[in-house]
Amino acid sequence: MNRPVFAMLRALLLVSLVGFAASSASASVTVTIQNNDSAGVGFNDPTPVAPIGGNNGTTLGQQRMNAFQFAANIWGATLNSGPSITIRASWSGLTCTTDSAVLAQTGALTIHTGFSNGIPGVWYGVALANALSGSDRNGSQAEISAQVNVNLGNPDCLSGSHWYLGLDGGHGGDTELVAVLIHEFAHGLGMQTFSNVKTGSDNGTPGIYDRFLRDNTTGKLWSEMSAAERVASAVNGGNLVWAGSQVTADVPNVLGTPRLTVNSPGSIAGNYTVGTANFGPSISSPGIMGNVVRTQPLDACSAVSNAGSISGNIAFIDRGTCNFIDKVKNAQNAGAIGVIIGNVSTSNNPSVAPGMGAVGAPVLITIPTESLNFSDAQTLRGQLGGAVNASIRLDHSVLLGSDSSDHALMFAPATATQGSSVSHFDTSAFPNLVMEPNYSGDLGHSVLAPQDLTFSLLHDLGWAGSSTPPPPPPANDNFSAAQVISGCSGSVNGSNVSATKESGEPNHSPDNNGGTKSVWYQWQAPATGDATITTAGSSFDTVLGVYTGGSVASLTAVAKNDDTNANDATSSVTFCATAGTIYMIAVDGYNNGGAGGDVGSVTLNWSLTNCGLGAMQIMLEESGPAANQAAAFDAVLFVRDPFPVVNSSDVFNLVGDPNTRVLIFVTNLQLSQCENAAAVTVNLIDSLNQTYNIPAQDVRSVPNQAFTQVLFRLPNNLAVGTCQIKVIAHGLTSNTATLRIKS
Ligand SMILES: [Zn+2]
Repeated sequence: MNRPVFAMLRALLLVSLVGFAASSASASVTVTIQNNDSAGVGFNDPTPVAPIGGNNGTTLGQQRMNAFQFAANIWGATLNSGPSITIRASWSGLTCTTDSAVLAQTGALTIHTGFSNGIPGVWYGVALANALSGSDRNGSQAEISAQVNVNLGNPDCLSGSHWYLGLDGGHGGDTELVAVLIHEFAHGLGMQTFSNVKTGSDNGTPGIYDRFLRDNTTGKLWSEMSAAERVASAVNGGNLVWAGSQVTADVPNVLGTPRLTVNSPGSIAGNYTVGTANFGPSISSPGIMGNVVRTQPLDACSAVSNAGSISGNIAFIDRGTCNFIDKVKNAQNAGAIGVIIGNVSTSNNPSVAPGMGAVGAPVLITIPTESLNFSDAQTLRGQLGGAVNASIRLDHSVLLGSDSSDHALMFAPATATQGSSVSHFDTSAFPNLVMEPNYSGDLGHSVLAPQDLTFSLLHDLGWAGSSTPPPPPPANDNFSAAQVISGCSGSVNGSNVSATKESGEPNHSPDNNGGTKSVWYQWQAPATGDATITTAGSSFDTVLGVYTGGSVASLTAVAKNDDTNANDATSSVTFCATAGTIYMIAVDGYNNGGAGGDVGSVTLNWSLTNCGLGAMQIMLEESGPAANQAAAFDAVLFVRDPFPVVNSSDVFNLVGDPNTRVLIFVTNLQLSQCENAAAVTVNLIDSLNQTYNIPAQDVRSVPNQAFTQVLFRLPNNLAVGTCQIKVIAHGLTSNTATLRIKS
């Protein structure tokens, strides 16, 4: 049988020593595939293809991408950690011969140490470092690099075994891309040593993975060893184990020995040694139990004619004539729940129960298969005239692939290979594990116990899973519990991890692609001006909404934003705030890939123009003839008071309205972007105590001066004498000044 091997890309050594605030976990992680291929090749290959196995892409490139995203989503649903993960992926020519191939290579793009929730002085792959610290430690850079062998199946590259791009496991004799990618992404998530397995060097400091690698011969962890000890340990097969507590706890429920157990008749009852198939589902516990029935024809190399007897039972099939997978397919079509293939006298090595490889076209096998040597097969045949009941099952009393203390064995072949040795489980494991170094056709898509140990190992490294209880929601999760912020400007830190969306709550993104992880803030504008609110400093792709209204289901949107610009996933809005108005501010995650919204640490910043100014003052004449006399001009003639109400001599009046326009000057008054002059009122009380509230006709700041000019029209019939004026704006009132009216 061909033995394609997985390989693993050694991580680039990049260093980050800066600590950062922590947050924690969520219900799933967004895992995005970044297409790193050139036009026309890899993911961009335009070759038309037919849908296969649930993959409905219409080009080769699309189907490749669909399979990548499918595998990424499996990890996304498994992990429970805030920051999203980007996998930079491409298709290229990797090492090949006619009968072996490096299928893919993957690794963390950077490694990090010195962050919160990490063990000091220990290196972590960036995806795990981001998850543990709850912060984005590598900016817009991808976390994981993955390359897949584009040449697979070519004459010089494992000839005849092509990539199966279906999503359903129905690969037949082909190599299933989804299973390979689930394996590869696990390397990128942390299942890799950063040490050199040939020189033993760990670059002076251990990686987190090495803290769980133990050599049973010396009793030492890799993180405790000298380089020479690591070199020896890397080839100490059978004695290199995983010392992590989660894997060790799960080993007795995952590993075992495949059995055919005959339950009756008593004369032949007991366990039989079996061979297993490289296709179909793994042998599981408790497995399947049924009556054993011989097929017609006995070799099942054509359609089974006694389907009525086979259906619901275990099919017994003679070895020979055609491929194993074809026999099983015929039995499956007849309704069998499992298959036993028995050697015949003319079989190769009839005394050995054969391992059964898969060859040929894609086909979906859903029932388990075991084989028997000739002697055992004859024992069963002797009873198949009557009722024989048997189980195809995984026996957990003998754990293949573990030491006597339930530690999983790690792959440590006699010749060390970087990227293969140490960074996989041992090939002696049964059932076949996702993280063995060689691809197996019977791998499922689960990375969780009791099917597999991959997530158990990642959990030992520090990953939390979606089955781990999420942390409690933040205190400002709900609208009614909005965090109160105040003042002209400021900044607060928090988190939207475990936050929820409420019934009736609007979407906070202008494109309606906000998520369901919102937190709320409440801010009462202390002045009227231009308010700017941003999420700069937050650790994830935020969306931001600002509203008015008293309940979450009856809000009026003031402003919304997703991204500040194409290069900045934080959000920013600027709007006209009115003094005294309460604004409700929501921060949510962008719903990347439909995962419900990014989560992470939130930083909310706010600032307001025209805020925190001193009291509004009408500027006075320094030596005017009357007390508190306003510095004022006729706006057309530029003469000082006293002013006539109607200036019929004003030849410059262009609007046919001869009433005098008075210009006064006011400090600490600015209009916001969306206000006009009418936002300012001049309150005037004339000498007869008649009050007029006069909207300003023009308000503008005076260039290079720290004051604003306000122009207003004197009302008709104003009494002659001294007036008192005040300026009212933004709910505030200025000092009182005087102005004289003449006849
Ligand atoms: Zn691998």
